[in-house]
Amino acid sequence: MARRRSYRLVRPNPQKTISDADTILPTPSVCRQFTSRAGGIFSTAQAKRASQDSGSVTTVVIDAGHGGHDRGGIPGQRIAEKDMTLDVAQRLKRVLAASGYRVVMTRDSDVFVSLGGRVAIANSYPDALFVCIHFNSAKRMGAGGIETYFYSRESLPLASAIHYFVAGGAPSSNRGVRRRGYYVLRKTNIPAVLVECGFLTNPTEAAYAQNASYRQKLADEIAAGVRGRNSVSNALTTTRVATGESIPLQPYIDQTKVAKSERHRSKRSHKKSARRKKSSSKPAESKTKAASKDQEG
Ligand SMILES: [Zn+2]
Repeated sequence: MARRRSYRLVRPNPQKTISDADTILPTPSVCRQFTSRAGGIFSTAQAKRASQDSGSVTTVVIDAGHGGHDRGGIPGQRIAEKDMTLDVAQRLKRVLAASGYRVVMTRDSDVFVSLGGRVAIANSYPDALFVCIHFNSAKRMGAGGIETYFYSRESLPLASAIHYFVAGGAPSSNRGVRRRGYYVLRKTNIPAVLVECGFLTNPTEAAYAQNASYRQKLADEIAAGVRGRNSVSNALTTTRVATGESIPLQPYIDQTKVAKSERHRSKRSHKKSARRKKSSSKPAESKTKAASKDQEG
């Protein structure tokens, strides 16, 4: 693990313009704000716990988004998100199993699994990690990029490591790490991360996603993040490049307190539509909304 080659820091490449008007890139002020309000991101106990599980067999619960009647994405979308998420999840399963992890799949075929069912599976493995695989979609074809979500503070190192590798390894733009109260992240009692592996409505990213070797690359990078989760530096660092021993904690945008009107403006339409169908894996957009959405899926 420690000998992995250095990666460049994940940051927006000026040549890969993020054209999505809704995108706000992570800024240090966002992080400082959260850090000071929360009184520091990591406790000593958390750091100790994180370092202790290396060496023992770790269980990873892999959650392929959508499935069955729930295709994912927006209405009329050509590529079914559920097929891409399952393929990446199955590749990830193989990579992690080969690295000695115990892997549990919330689904391993084209079936519908409720959000409650997914969470129940995850929570039945109290020492596990939970990784949800999704692809994004938007009405505007130009929207693109990789984003990684987490909710609980103990999930941030895992989110940082996964995002660091996936966004660093993918040619797509970096939409950053984001904290948001999605149901599957909020209701799980274990470190939980949701990766949006690119926009299937973006012609370039859709072409990547349809390429098996690219999906393998995504799986490899997510696995690298899982393996590297305990090497995430303990504080926001100014280090611009990871050393063999450490992965920089990623700055993130806290979207848990975004005003409702703002959130709706920035909402991608597929999520609204998915919520109507009670089939989205990500129905809970905020604590307020979540209360009424807990039964979904
Ligand atoms: Zn999805």
